[in-house]
Order: sequence, then C-alpha cells, then structure tokens
Amino acid sequence: MSVNLLNFDTAGLAAFFAAQDESAFRAKQVLRWIHRFGQADFDGMTNLAKGLRAKLKDLASVGPPELVLDRVSEDGARKFLFDVGDGNAIETVFIPEDTRGTLCVSSQVGCALGCAFCSTGKQGFSRNLSVAEIIGQLWQASRALGASSSGERVISNVVLMGMGEPLANFDNTVTAIRLMLDDNAYGLSRRRVTVSTSGLVPAIDRLRDECPVALAVSLHAPDDALRDTLVPINRKYPLASLMAACGRYLDKAPRDFVTFEYVLLDGVNDSEAHARALLSRVGGLPCKFNLIPFNPFPGSPFRRPPAERVRRFAEILMEAGIITTTRKLRGDDIDAACGQLVGQVRNRRAKNCFREMNPR
Ligand code: SAH
Ligand code: SF4
Repeated sequence: MSVNLLNFDTAGLAAFFAAQDESAFRAKQVLRWIHRFGQADFDGMTNLAKGLRAKLKDLASVGPPELVLDRVSEDGARKFLFDVGDGNAIETVFIPEDTRGTLCVSSQVGCALGCAFCSTGKQGFSRNLSVAEIIGQLWQASRALGASSSGERVISNVVLMGMGEPLANFDNTVTAIRLMLDDNAYGLSRRRVTVSTSGLVPAIDRLRDECPVALAVSLHAPDDALRDTLVPINRKYPLASLMAACGRYLDKAPRDFVTFEYVLLDGVNDSEAHARALLSRVGGLPCKFNLIPFNPFPGSPFRRPPAERVRRFAEILMEAGIITTTRKLRGDDIDAACGQLVGQVRNRRAKNCFREMNPR
C-alpha cells in the first residue's frame, strides 16, 4: 500500500527515508518539493536521482483531500470544500486583507463537544482528520491561490478555527502545525498560527509544552452557571481552571496575550452586566477580545443581538483598556463560514457565516 507523505513532518519523513536506506537530506529535499513548491509528482522532483524517484513512485504518494468546490465571494473571501470520503466534507476559508491573508482550517469532521450555538457541534462527531487532511487544506489552498505578485506569501496566517476542536485531535493537529512552522515547508512564525479551543485544559498545557503557538479560547460566558449551558466541556474544566491554564500558557506563548472569542447571543450573554462580569473574570490576565455576533443556522434557538447592543458590549471592554474587535460577516454570498461549517457534501447549501479572526 502506498504511504501518504503528507502525513509526515520532518522527523516522520526522515524516519521513512531512513527505513528505505536513504539519507535525511533526501527527506528534506522531498519535504521542500511537496510543501514549498506544491509538487505531488515524484518525476517533477528534478534534483532526486532517477532511481529514488522510481522507488518513491512505487512506495509513496502525495495525497491531499480532494478539492470539490472552490468559490470566491464578492468581498474576496474564498471557500474551499474538500471531500474526505464516506459522504463527509470539510471546509477551509481564505480571508484576504490588506496586510495579511488568513486561512481558516478544520481539524475534525463534526465535533463531540456539542456547544449549544454551534452547528458543527449539532452535527455530532464523525472522526478526526489525519495530518494529511489538515495540512492538505493548506497545501491545496496554497496551490489554488498561487504566489503573490509582490513575492510575499499569499497565506500569511493560519487559524485552526474551522470545523472541530483542534485540541481533541491533538497529535495530528500538532504534527500539522510543525509543518506550518517548518522553514522547509510553510515557514510561518508561531505568532501567525492560532489554535482556537473551547477550553480543554490539559491539552492547553500540553500545547504550551510541546508546540506553543498563538492561543484563542472560546469563552462565551463570564460565569460557570451560564457557560455550563453553552459550552458543556465547562462542567469538566470550569472557568477558574481555564483561566489558570491561560495564565500558564502565557509563560511560553509566542504572543503576550490570549485572545478570547465571545459569541454574542441575543438576550443570553450580551448584556452590560455580562460585559462587566467578564472584566472581573479575566482580571489582570493579558488578553484581547474577539466578539462574534451569532451566526444563525436552521433549527437554532438563538438569535443575533441588535447592532447597538454589540457595540455597547465592545465599548465596555474597551473602556477597561482591553483591545476588542467585532468580527465582520464575510463571504456570506458563497456560504463561506466557520463555526457552522458543513459536514456533508450533499448539505453544502447550508447557510453559513464567516469569521474574521485577527484584529487590525
Ligand atoms: N472548537 C474550537 C474551534 C472551532 S469553532 C472552538 O470552539 O474554539 C471556532 C469559533 O466559532 C469558536 O469561537 C466558536 O464558538 C465559534 N462559533 C461556533 N458556532 C458559531 C455560530 N453559530 N456563530 C458564531 N460563532 C460560532
Ligand atoms: Fe466543537 Fe468548537 Fe463547535 Fe464547540 S464551538 S461544538 S468546541 S467546534
């Protein structure tokens, strides 16, 4: 059976080559061909000896998830849909901005954590994505987007904020992140790769120790009673333990703040009192807030708050000196979305919205 080389980071590829009695240097060359140059055909890897190319053709392949849809929104957002087999699909969204291009990547098909306001959570959990399926989203998007005319990278930032809980698929996510950071692959800095988590405390500590990158934590409520109902994992890892983990993370984090994501739900968590309670909850922890007005989906009991309430909520946080951004709706005309991504190829018309992560 052919070995999919997209599943390997540098160490994995070196081990694969060592098992073939080939040098680690060859592994590095092949890594560069695959990820720096987007080459999937071993015959195109022209600095490899013919014998090695023939051997690789026999043993191995470069197998990304199959791209089945590629659509551009009026505002420039671009959505990629990948078929990952058994009727399952994952989405990846590219968000171009003046000073950067952000790719929003999925980590699982569905999600087991069942947050009340999340359509991915409502779908339930199908399976973890492999390393090849996670890094394959970046591989495919990089190829589709091409090189920018100025010579700068088109994809300058990656956020693991698509479908699924990245820290519940820890090993595959971290191996994929190592490739994102590797100079022979995508060469992104740790500050430009963001993991978003609903708050798996032990995994936050592991990420800090094994592969610290920028961290975004989905908070959504200032107290345990409310958060228990919105983010069920809070019953296992309540806010005090989550805040403590955020503090520990900052010791090794590449950025000196944690980003808190906060979905605003009409009449549920969006009052001035909630905003003030949040301030005391985060205390002196260095943080930024990213407010996400709820994106409705069929069958959901929640609504998006009126714009004025969103503005007032942001104002209270900002008056306390916390940098706060409110996510714009983008890519709506092409159903480009995160947070409520489709899970099935046949369900791709599901109405979605779109998140913009990085504050300006
Ligand atoms: N599982 C991770 C990352 C994927 S979800 C996490 O929960 O952080 C990415 C973000 O989208 C999270 O902040 C999540 O709360 C948010 N989100 C989920 N459903 C949403 C919806 N319907 N409207 C707006 N944001 C939503
Ligand atoms: Fe899973 Fe994140 Fe959705 Fe919660 S918000 S169900 S953790 S994908």
